[in-house]
Amino acid sequence: MRSILSLLLLLVVNYAIAQLPKDIDREIVFRSVNVIPMDSERVLENQDVIVKNGTITSVAATGTVKYSKEAMIVDGKGKFLMPGLAEMHAHVPPVNDIEPMKEVVLLFALNGITTIRGMLGHPKHLELRQKINSGEILGPRFITSGPSLNGNSVKTTQNAIDSVRSQKKAGYDFMKLHPGLTKENFAALAVEAKKQKHPFAGHVSFDVGVWRAIAAGYATIDHLDGFVESLVPGIESIKEQETGLFGMFIGKQADESKIPALITALKRQNIWVVPTQALAERWMSPSRDAESLAQAPEMIYMNKNVVTTWLNNKKSLVGNPKYNASETESFIKLRRKLILECQKNGVGLLLGCDAPQVFNVPGFSTHHELAYLVDAGLTPFQALQTGTVNVGKFLKKKDLGLIKKGAPADLVLLGANPLETIRNTENIEGVLMGKKWLSKEFITESLKAIAATK
Ligand SMILES: [Zn+2]
Repeated sequence: MRSILSLLLLLVVNYAIAQLPKDIDREIVFRSVNVIPMDSERVLENQDVIVKNGTITSVAATGTVKYSKEAMIVDGKGKFLMPGLAEMHAHVPPVNDIEPMKEVVLLFALNGITTIRGMLGHPKHLELRQKINSGEILGPRFITSGPSLNGNSVKTTQNAIDSVRSQKKAGYDFMKLHPGLTKENFAALAVEAKKQKHPFAGHVSFDVGVWRAIAAGYATIDHLDGFVESLVPGIESIKEQETGLFGMFIGKQADESKIPALITALKRQNIWVVPTQALAERWMSPSRDAESLAQAPEMIYMNKNVVTTWLNNKKSLVGNPKYNASETESFIKLRRKLILECQKNGVGLLLGCDAPQVFNVPGFSTHHELAYLVDAGLTPFQALQTGTVNVGKFLKKKDLGLIKKGAPADLVLLGANPLETIRNTENIEGVLMGKKWLSKEFITESLKAIAATK
């Protein structure tokens, strides 16, 4: 019985994969659609957006520009077209098998995420990147770090130098730093990275601290790592084990008058910030309890053992003797304030939420992150910028994250206006990834197929 059942499940999965959308070579026209171009906060009503070969060829008032009779027409009446979103702190399984990666990148795509930055690289990810680019695998544009550089993988300055050279040579897009690097090894890594023009991003090691990280020129600092620690007077005499993840156990000692100096330094050095606030709001926050998060609708797309692990992760954090609910609330508020200060003072924010980590399901959690940015005080437009036009600027990819003639056709069709309510980004009617159209039916069927395997 069991084997028949698993065979059936296999068929369901294969069915979804067999139905992957084909490249559309003719023109695609979103007719009479409301466009959110993202160049400024505005809606262009009643437009025809024409796409050909993965590029937007025209955006104009409906009926004013001709297109071919064979064009594929998407009725956009009453709907909203925005650029596809980017998830700038994603995780793709770092394993020697490409199969489990396919589902993760598909989950992102089904949620309107058209670019992801992989934050824990693996040699197999280079193959994944190539197969996504060639169209063999359906997934968002994929930028990937090399394997983790941390206190275990980098033990000497020579290790640091060799790692930069070998990761650059292997063809990774950048380096991901994790905790545990010493000042000396980090300094050697940063100098070599500059020589090799190979960027580094991610965590700030405790011994390094945010000031050295900023001076050394991180491409992005993720999780606001090191920010809270930098506000705590006498941090030099506090042991790393006492601080908690991202400084959560020492937040109450933060001196908020130190915030402007931190923000000024980030701005001056042009450091981009990926807050991954979803991690704090979902994992750390006492106001979202573990049991109800485990029941959230999108948990059906994760393996049950993963959800159980997340449940236990949260329970063990909350059960830690150092965990204090009201102090954690204040810590989360402090993080919100840091995010808002970055926004107000022109520090570039990028959308990212660290899925699949504790209660963050790939794709779905990116939309939660948008809402958390709005909770932090950003307007919906500013929140959308972090996942669209800011990403184009950060990646130096012309017109990525915009809707205009010549821009890449990474597009999401929504049933309602996200500038009014940010949660409307979840109301997805279809996703265009270059020449591939993910219709609402395809999205619904694929999600069903994924859930059926769990
Ligand atoms: Zn991560």
